[in-house]
Amino acid sequence: MKYIGAHVSAAGGVENAPINAKNIGANAFALFTKNQKQWIAPPLSEKSIELFKQRVEEFGFLPENILPHDSYLINLGSPDPEGLEKSRDSFVIDMHRCEQLGLKKLNFHPGAHLKRISEEDCISVIATSINIALEKTNGVTAVIENTAGQGSALGHTFEQIAQIIELVEDKSRVGVCLDTAHMLAAGYEIRTKESFDETFRKFDEIIGFRYLQGLHINDSKKELATRVDRHDSLGKGVMGMDTFSFIMNDSRFDYIPLILETPDDSLWAEEIKLLWSLKR
Ligand SMILES: [Zn+2]
Ligand SMILES: [Zn+2]
Repeated sequence: MKYIGAHVSAAGGVENAPINAKNIGANAFALFTKNQKQWIAPPLSEKSIELFKQRVEEFGFLPENILPHDSYLINLGSPDPEGLEKSRDSFVIDMHRCEQLGLKKLNFHPGAHLKRISEEDCISVIATSINIALEKTNGVTAVIENTAGQGSALGHTFEQIAQIIELVEDKSRVGVCLDTAHMLAAGYEIRTKESFDETFRKFDEIIGFRYLQGLHINDSKKELATRVDRHDSLGKGVMGMDTFSFIMNDSRFDYIPLILETPDDSLWAEEIKLLWSLKR
């Protein structure tokens, strides 16, 4: 069984996200639990929490197929002590909000060294950040997203992600979300059956499918190995539809959220239908 949705708006309150997801025919979704451009946010009201949970249940969404994304300001590998403290605090707030909403996963970009510390040191700072957050929260898995490798952002290779996981104490609460656009831009070819199989063979060997907690289904405006993060609508970028067809017909991607982060939200309902149509 596949679970497909999009990163929907939570404008006006998190309780609106399940409605927005239902309206595009999704059976999974992503959201920001607080403003993605702010460090902190007013606490979730009892009413918001209640309505969110009620709608999730009423519309038949399963908590494991809801994949919240952390705030964009957070850098869990920051070389700057003040920036790191702010990031860690903000991340714990995001984790807490997931707990309050009955959600099981929080998706985040590992972090960036800003060319001020080594890759190795940054990886260890990120892992420590995750350990701190897991210690302070319960029941929410920290889901590391692969990146395009733009600037000094880490997490663009499977090896880097594996090294972070290696340093996380509670391996039962760390996972991975793979973004197809980021994979391609980072240099992982996935557009032919052979390359797709080879890339996911490597993923399984280096990280392991047991850690896979979700996929971001995006086309890319940027070519292979450009290390530039620019999503495109399905079929409009350089990916081609074959990649999405491989995903839809591969049971290794069953029972995890498959989330569109494509730029034109007016196409999401159509894109979800398109994905279902690829299933043989
Ligand atoms: Zn992301
Ligand atoms: Zn993504």
